[in-house]
Amino acid sequence: MTFHLLTIFPEFFRGPLEFGVVGKAIEAGKVTVRLHDLRAWTADRHKTVDDRPFGGGEGMLLKPQPLFDAVETIFPERTPSRLVALMSAQGKLFDQAAARRYSALDELLLICGRYEGVDERVAEHLADEEISIGDYVLSGGELAASVVVDTVARLLPGVLGNEASSVRESFTGGLLDCPQWTRPADFRGWKVPDVLLNGNHAGIEKWRRRAAREKTGRNRPDLLAKTGESSLE
Ligand code: SAH
Repeated sequence: MTFHLLTIFPEFFRGPLEFGVVGKAIEAGKVTVRLHDLRAWTADRHKTVDDRPFGGGEGMLLKPQPLFDAVETIFPERTPSRLVALMSAQGKLFDQAAARRYSALDELLLICGRYEGVDERVAEHLADEEISIGDYVLSGGELAASVVVDTVARLLPGVLGNEASSVRESFTGGLLDCPQWTRPADFRGWKVPDVLLNGNHAGIEKWRRRAAREKTGRNRPDLLAKTGESSLE
């Protein structure tokens, strides 16, 4: 799968996409990341990408022309397997289900906003989707885009060492993952639950399902409410 990142700070992505399974997948060519410098689509001497908002107000907005020109050059044709998403605090919430949906695409182009945001015509007429990574305001779309690339890339075939790792984890099936422990079985007097030490796989599985529900109820009652289950089984 190919990710296109449209940004005024292409250098930004060196860190976030360099490490771990995603870094390795990029290095191995399983995932391709293309960085596009928005300023390459400006025509003036100062490479201006922003302008003042109509109606007044603080700060500057990314203006439409360089963004439209860039996206129309990167994707000369729009197909259902090429998606353009605008990173935006005003977007729909990006979640694991959206990540799974994106992981079936051939190409995903993420537009990174800056300053006070982006001319609304980009959300209305250029992007297929406007997405937010959470209910808080970042100073730019690059961090948010890194989150999306990371989340989607680890779902692609061959990116995680063990295919099963992405099957049972948080938000798959509506619950959080179950709590887990590693050695030692007793650390400073805090003991690992006995059931995990006795090798009874059916018992362990049952315990894990219950523990996942219990933890979801404690930390994310909103998720549990959606599954229609009670935390007490
Ligand atoms: N004035 C805007 C915020 C602009 S922040 C507002 O109040 O809605 C500048 C850029 O950061 C945005 O254009 C967007 O690309 C990015 N950004 C900020 N918060 C984000 C979030 N929660 N999710 C995704 N992108 C975000």
